[in-house]
Amino acid sequence: MSGSIAVENPGRIGEVVGEVPVATAAQVDTAVRAAGAAQRAFGGLPVAERIAVLERVAGSLEDDEALAELLARESGKPLGDCRGEIRFAGVYLRWAASRAAGVLADAHTDDASGRLLLRRRPFGVVGAITPWNAPIILTLLKVGPALAAGNTIVVKPSPLAPLAIARILARFPDGLVHVVHGEAEAGAALVSHPLVRKVAFTGGEAAGRAIGALAGKAITPAVLELGGNDPAVFLADADLSDAAMDRLVMGSFQSAGQVCMAAKRLYVPEARFAEFRDAYVAAAARVVVLGDALAPDTTVGPVISAGAAERLRALAALGEPVPLGRVAVDLARGHYVRPTLLTGLDDASPVVADEQFGPVVPVLTYREEEDVLARANAGELGLGASVWSADEDRAFAFARRFEAGFTFVNTHGRTGMALRAPFGGVKRSGFGREYGEEGITEYTQTCAVHLPAAFRAGGAGMGAAAYPA
Ligand code: NAD
Repeated sequence: MSGSIAVENPGRIGEVVGEVPVATAAQVDTAVRAAGAAQRAFGGLPVAERIAVLERVAGSLEDDEALAELLARESGKPLGDCRGEIRFAGVYLRWAASRAAGVLADAHTDDASGRLLLRRRPFGVVGAITPWNAPIILTLLKVGPALAAGNTIVVKPSPLAPLAIARILARFPDGLVHVVHGEAEAGAALVSHPLVRKVAFTGGEAAGRAIGALAGKAITPAVLELGGNDPAVFLADADLSDAAMDRLVMGSFQSAGQVCMAAKRLYVPEARFAEFRDAYVAAAARVVVLGDALAPDTTVGPVISAGAAERLRALAALGEPVPLGRVAVDLARGHYVRPTLLTGLDDASPVVADEQFGPVVPVLTYREEEDVLARANAGELGLGASVWSADEDRAFAFARRFEAGFTFVNTHGRTGMALRAPFGGVKRSGFGREYGEEGITEYTQTCAVHLPAAFRAGGAGMGAAAYPA
C-alpha cells in the first residue's frame, strides 16, 4: 500500500488535523538500513555522549504549547493531559539518562574462580510499533533506553495519532531515529526485516499476536506490552473519602478510559455497596467534565473513533447504567461516550470479562476476600490491579496474591506509577518491562568474556574435558 493517511480529530467530526505518507516495504527497508549504518558508529560512542542526545530532546519538551495542542487535536485527549504527557516524557528521558551509565557499565570480577567480564551490548536496530493512546510517552519509553544502550531505532507510530510524536522524533540527531508511517503492512515489514534485532510493541492483543508471530519467525526477541483488564479491589476498611474517590474515578476515566492500566472493573464489599456507589457518583460530579479536548475545563474527551464509540455505547446500556459527571459538549459533534458506572452485572458480562477500553465501568460486590481475589485473577490478562485499604500491611499482603505485573495501593493508574518501578504484564498482557532499570536493560544483551583460573598463566590446569568446578 502507498499514499497517505488523513488524521482526524475524534472530537470534531470532519476536522482533518494533518496527513502522513504511508511507507512502502522499500521505504521501510531504506529506513532500517540507514538506522543500521548509523548504529555502527553510534553504538561505539561513550555512554555519556549517547545520553546527551536524550537530555537535549528532554529539554525541548518542557513548554511546547503547539505540540500539546496538536496531540490534543489528533488524540482527543484534554489539553492539560497532553501538556502533562509531553512534560512527563521529558522527565522520563532525563531519568533514563541519569541511570544509564550505572546500568550499562561493564561488570568485572577477578577472583579465585578466574576473570569474568560482563558487557551489556546493544542489539543493533530496534523496530518499535506504538499505539495512539499515549503516543509520546509510550514511544519515548522505547527510544530513550534503546539509544542510551547504543541501538538506533525505527518507529512506526499509530496512524490514529502520528503527528505530535513524529515532530518530537525529528528532534533527534540525523540517522539515529527513523519514522515510517502506515498500518499493519508497514508494521509487518518493519518487524520482519532481517536487520531489525529487537522488536518493541505496545498495543492490543490481536496486533500483539501478529507481531509476536512475525518476530518469532525471524528469531527476533520482542517486548510486548499488551492490554489489561485491571481490577480495583476495595477491602472492607477502605477509605472512601472524597480525595480517594476522585483518584479512583480519574483512574477509570483518564483519556476517556482508553488506558492500558485504567481501573476497568471495581469490586466492593456487599455491605458498603450503596455508600461506595454514592461516593463514586459524587466524585464523578466533581472531577468528570466531558468535552472538547481544547476546552479548558474538559477532563474527559471523546473516544478515538466512530467504531469505538458505537461499541462502548452498546456496553453502556448493560445492567443498570448510572450516567456520570457533566456533559459540556454537543455529543453528536464527535465520538463522545458519556462516562457511565454499570451496576447490576455479574462477572460473565462482556464489560467485566473483557477489556472495554473506554469510559464505561462496572462495579461488582463480594462477601469474602478469597472469593474476590479469585474473581480478580480470573481471565487471561494480568497488566495492572489495585487494592484499597486503610491498613498498608493488609493491602500489601493482599497485593502479593494478584496475578498482575503492577499493583497500585490506594490509587490506580498514572498517579500510582514510579519511574523506578518496572511496568509490564503477566499472562497474556505481554512480556518484557518498561520503566525502571529493567526498562533500560531490555535493550541490551549480556555478553560474557571469561578466563577460568585453571588456565591463567601459572594456573594449576585441569583435565581437557572436565566440567568447571
Ligand atoms: P493496536 O494494537 O490496534 O495498534 C497498535 C499499533 O500496532 C499501531 O501502530 C498499529 O498500526 C499497529 N498494528 C496493528 N496491527 C498490526 C499488525 N498486524 N502488524 C503490525 N503492526 C500492527 O492498538 P491501539 O488501538 O493503538 O491501542 C490500544 C491497545 O493497546 C489496548 O488494548 C491497550 O490496553 C493497549 N495498550 C497497552 C499498553 C501497555 O503498556 N501494556 C499501553 C497502552 C495501550
